Amino acid sequence: MPSDITSLGVIGAGTMGHGIAQVGAQAGLQVILVDVGDELLRAAMSSIEANLARQVAKDALTQTAADATLGRIRTAPQLAEVKEVQIVVEAVSENADLKRDIFRQLDDATPAGTVLASNTSSISITLLGAATERPDRVIGMHFMNPVPVMPLVEVVRGQETSDDTHAAVVVLAEALGKTPVTVNDFPGFVSNRLLMPMINEAAFCLLEGVAEKEAIDEIMQLGMNHPMGPLALADLIGLDTCLSVMEVLHRELGEDKYRPCPLLRRMVAAGALGRKAGRGFYDYRSARPASGK
Ligand code: NAD
Repeated sequence: MPSDITSLGVIGAGTMGHGIAQVGAQAGLQVILVDVGDELLRAAMSSIEANLARQVAKDALTQTAADATLGRIRTAPQLAEVKEVQIVVEAVSENADLKRDIFRQLDDATPAGTVLASNTSSISITLLGAATERPDRVIGMHFMNPVPVMPLVEVVRGQETSDDTHAAVVVLAEALGKTPVTVNDFPGFVSNRLLMPMINEAAFCLLEGVAEKEAIDEIMQLGMNHPMGPLALADLIGLDTCLSVMEVLHRELGEDKYRPCPLLRRMVAAGALGRKAGRGFYDYRSARPASGK
């Protein structure tokens, strides 16, 4: 794997995928962004355009650079379109069966040397690697949300991940302007093993009437210096993603302390998934955040 990576495939153009495509293109890589429908791809490109326009408005980027960035991103509704890129980052929904299927397809569609990375928040990289004939080339590249803003990439080494693959991904993360921090493959890695139980406990506090949601968030912001309260953060991440991660922690680590909060389950069942659905713990359909419960 050469360290001079010039092309990137991104599978899944949702909250994370379009952000990864944007930072890749801004770093000068040729990017192919794949999702299941034209409408989703159009929405992803509009979000990227809006992000870049905000940077131009703040004089953080020239219009020429924004146009060039957009020109480096090609969208495609078929996964096989990534066959010529040097590295693929998978960012589809947090579902192990779906991701294993995508890794099987990527293994067939790309040359044996292509690195296959996953942006999963909690699913075993070793498990995804085992779905391919190249587990040594499979690794976790866990970007944070919002991708263009957050400096961390949690690099996750699966049991079979090779030193070469790890080195290539560290170089790529740095080329994207991020700081890679390496961890081993355990449920939730480090980031979500610490973050998600806090969000889950905040949902329990709300469910049990310990405090109103604004109070829970304010306490963590003002008292613990968190830039955002846990319930507002859950809305940003997506409640479906939070629930999936808690289910993985609960199942894989087998301890009651990871039991997903029933309120989280009920809100996901109701489609109140957070910002991406217009409502979660807060309501984003009106100008001013209000109750979304
Ligand atoms: P999302 O729901 O916003 O987007 C997922 C996208 O995957 C959707 O656009 C969907 O159409 C697409 N998809 C589903 N099946 C597909 C297929 N077969 N082929 C191509 N595309 C397909 O989810 P997200 O929040 O962007 O999360 C994506 C991944 O990133 C998950 O693994 C999640 O755990 C992880 N992650 C999320 C966050 C966060 O804050 N949201 C942070 C870090 C990591």
